[in-house]
Amino acid sequence: MDAVRMHAASPESRAIVDSVLDYSRRRMLSDDVPLDKPQSPAELRRLAGRTITDDGLGAQRALSVFEHILAPACLTTSHPLYLSFIPTAPTIAAMAFDLVVSASGLYGGSWLEGAGAVHAENEVLSFLAGEFGLPDTAGGVFVQGGTIGNLSALVAARETAREKLVAAGRPAPARWKIVCSIEAHSSNKSAAKVMDAEVVAVPAGADGVLRADAVRAALEEHGDAVCAVVATAGSTNFGIVDDIAGIAALKDEFDFWLHIDGAYGLTAALAPEAKPIFAGVERADSLIVDPHKWLFAPFDCCALIYRDPDGGRRAHTQHAEYLDTLTDTEDFSPSDYSIQLTRRPRGLPLWFSLATYGVEAYRQAVSATIALTHRIAEEIDRRDGFTLVRDPQLSVVVFERDGWSRADYDRWSADLLDAQHAFVVPSSHAGRPNTRFAILNPLTTFDELVAILDTMG
Ligand SMILES: *Cc1c(COP(=O)(O)O)cnc(C)c1O
Repeated sequence: MDAVRMHAASPESRAIVDSVLDYSRRRMLSDDVPLDKPQSPAELRRLAGRTITDDGLGAQRALSVFEHILAPACLTTSHPLYLSFIPTAPTIAAMAFDLVVSASGLYGGSWLEGAGAVHAENEVLSFLAGEFGLPDTAGGVFVQGGTIGNLSALVAARETAREKLVAAGRPAPARWKIVCSIEAHSSNKSAAKVMDAEVVAVPAGADGVLRADAVRAALEEHGDAVCAVVATAGSTNFGIVDDIAGIAALKDEFDFWLHIDGAYGLTAALAPEAKPIFAGVERADSLIVDPHKWLFAPFDCCALIYRDPDGGRRAHTQHAEYLDTLTDTEDFSPSDYSIQLTRRPRGLPLWFSLATYGVEAYRQAVSATIALTHRIAEEIDRRDGFTLVRDPQLSVVVFERDGWSRADYDRWSADLLDAQHAFVVPSSHAGRPNTRFAILNPLTTFDELVAILDTMG
């Protein structure tokens, strides 16, 4: 009996499911979830005690430890006043459906095993590809995050560059090069490291924008060794978009793979007024956008889209005897398009949410956030003692409190969290300390942001 106890549908199982769903329901539907804050390992050890034991604590005690000790030691990253790094803000439908993904043993790696789930994910990917102006034939896969998305795209870029050189009878370079802005996200550098490729860090303008001239110079200097150019569609620190149209136009002169890192910002292309900022994305060979950032999906979810999915497939399909039955077919299997094999269909919560609310609700949510960001930026700009570091383009606003040292920001930020008021951490630019609001939660209000400014004196 004990061997099947953990899996059988029994009164004990029903009680476990009830209490977990009940907790989830309360949490999802609460309108005043606290920000919470981390605790030290020693404190957590003291409070939680030993939870892994030979006989088990039972669901009630284990859940109680989670609810009262562990969960409060986790920041609520979806809180409307969590304004640091890049927050998250899953919709109610997306959060709820995440439970379904876990409840059903859904496998999203192959068409054979997960056709229905993969079909729905692919519809979302096609929708996104269409929004960004890619052709109907574009496609890809939802991966864990932007880091894996960038790496997978850049590996596909390198394999394609290698194939082209081989076909032309030219030698492969000793070391491949990836051209990107000096302000590009760290994950691009990390991808280059994993690939043993070299990053050609091209200077951006004083406004943070990478422009075609600088990319042209890099392409002229490094020639065949360049396997990809990365343009950023919304830098993480400032939300600034590179001159994608200018960089994409270089494709008329040079043959290169254009990858768009839109993990945070590319979502803004859904807002009609912001769409022009992203002109040129339609010429991308690959792109990523993280639904767990501004597309209101739960962690962890990155949409990786190839203009020509075959390039991704040639780079990534894993071959093994036990997999032949999957790979020797024409079926569309998501695992073939990135660095992963087993995968949950992590695009399904986004699918359910989009299907539930419709696209227009998303456009409005994104537009409202951009408008709020510009409004608070104007407020900061006109306040005595405050300086905007750069004008915001999307939904990040970076500013200084005149005369503050790093220690002043540190103290203020810690006090804000201690008071459970807001989570706003210090940052810096060009060696000067500052702070930033990264806004994307539709529940964040102007008055709340002003109240945070008021705490800075
Ligand atoms: C967040 C981010 C990444 C990394 O994505 P993860 O999902 O955190 O791995 C890459 N690029 C940009 C521009 C980002 O904002």
